[in-house]
Amino acid sequence: MKRVSDPVLSGQKCPYCGRKTVYVDSAEIYALSYGMIYLCRPCNAYCGVHKGTDIALGRVANATLRNLKKEAHSHFDQLWKQKGMTRKNAYKWLSSSMDIPKDLTHIGMFDEEQCRKVINLCKTKVL
Ligand SMILES: [Zn+2]
Repeated sequence: MKRVSDPVLSGQKCPYCGRKTVYVDSAEIYALSYGMIYLCRPCNAYCGVHKGTDIALGRVANATLRNLKKEAHSHFDQLWKQKGMTRKNAYKWLSSSMDIPKDLTHIGMFDEEQCRKVINLCKTKVL
């Protein structure tokens, strides 16, 4: 897992209010602990980490963005599975379609507009 230096994309800084996030146990949000998260308490925005690391999965997300990320992920996963693409090639396609460097092509790092773009791209992708 590569560390991303951008403070927002690496979950260190809240994109909504600009505050520094805190690194806390997810029990604070979910009642049960699922590991650590980066959290902005004033915005109720959070993001999980890659297993076994303190590296965020992407930017901290509020409820709207969390739902959009789920939707984008489900369209994207469906697309490459149905089209018989490998996950790697699917990310390559997404990276070039969105004109974002491959290292930064992770739905967890995307904002609302980018998630909507993923959903549209997946809906219109014809092989
Ligand atoms: Zn915030």
